[in-house]
Amino acid sequence: MSNYPRTLLEFQHLFPDEVACAHHLERIRWPEGFECPSCSQVGEPWRLQVRPRVLECRQCGYQVSLTAGTVMHRTRQPLPIWFWAAYLVTTQTPGMSALQFQRQLGIKRYETAFLMLHKLRAAMVRPERDRIGAEWPVEVDETYVGGATQGEGRGRHHKTLVVGMVEVLPRKKALGPDPNLPSGQRPQHRGGHGRSFIAGRLRLQTIPNRKQETLEPMVLANVQKKAEVRTDGWTGYDNLHNLGYNHTAEPVRGDQAKTAQHLPMIHIVFGNLDAWLLGTHHGVSPAHLQGYLNEFVFRFNRRFWPMVGFDSVLKIAAQVESPTNRDFYKSAQTSSNPVEPDEPVLTG
Ligand SMILES: [Zn+2]
Repeated sequence: MSNYPRTLLEFQHLFPDEVACAHHLERIRWPEGFECPSCSQVGEPWRLQVRPRVLECRQCGYQVSLTAGTVMHRTRQPLPIWFWAAYLVTTQTPGMSALQFQRQLGIKRYETAFLMLHKLRAAMVRPERDRIGAEWPVEVDETYVGGATQGEGRGRHHKTLVVGMVEVLPRKKALGPDPNLPSGQRPQHRGGHGRSFIAGRLRLQTIPNRKQETLEPMVLANVQKKAEVRTDGWTGYDNLHNLGYNHTAEPVRGDQAKTAQHLPMIHIVFGNLDAWLLGTHHGVSPAHLQGYLNEFVFRFNRRFWPMVGFDSVLKIAAQVESPTNRDFYKSAQTSSNPVEPDEPVLTG
């Protein structure tokens, strides 16, 4: 299914009950039709009305669980609840807290809601493996985020240092026709506010300090060699050129306007991250911060392919392909996603 539901109503229409959800699982696993894992018989299986999660081979009687290997394995929660959870955490809405989730879906126990979200989040751990920056420049900078404030007076405490790396893609002035509009009409408004760049793929990682010996391994692990890397004038980046990067450093000396000019994308990302951590989660403890960063990055990098994100957090995608730069660019030009493709905005 490539048409991702854009609204809550569309979603409800697509996945109203256990049977509809089971059917989606089946289609993902056997796009060409059921094949028995035991005897390799191809053809319609028996469908058990009282157990929609199970298919039975007509030839050998083997029973296949549709949820085996997914986050829904052996769960007592109805499949639509899981589907809703995956939808809510992967769409561009800023994810949700366990309490919101419990209330909105009428889950009896908070612990159940918490555990479900936790399982989905676990499927977002290490969401990326490939290095960014093969085709486009990468902005790199650090920021302090998070910090609980409760009971500790004004201001924010326990902040954690995070390094961020984001690709900067050119944005074509003329966007292609929108395939979802009648007779190939162009969309009236594509957002962007006149910016000529959009954010590409993102990486976020907590770090203990901003020393050179900390920052260099981060860049090496996440950014392709020979990539154009843009940073501020911080000495921690001084050696990137010798490591094989095309490094441009701008001495901004804390000047916000200069920073915004030289490293605009990563600062928009940092701003959204901050708002999300405070607004949705009301602060996050340093011990759990990396998990939340993974969730943020997961959603950010799939904002043009929400269905890929949806299937992969449920772990029903047999092989989740990480979109290539080229796909990304193409999609950024033609996507009619309700999210403005040139807005790297995740909150509000
Ligand atoms: Zn069989």
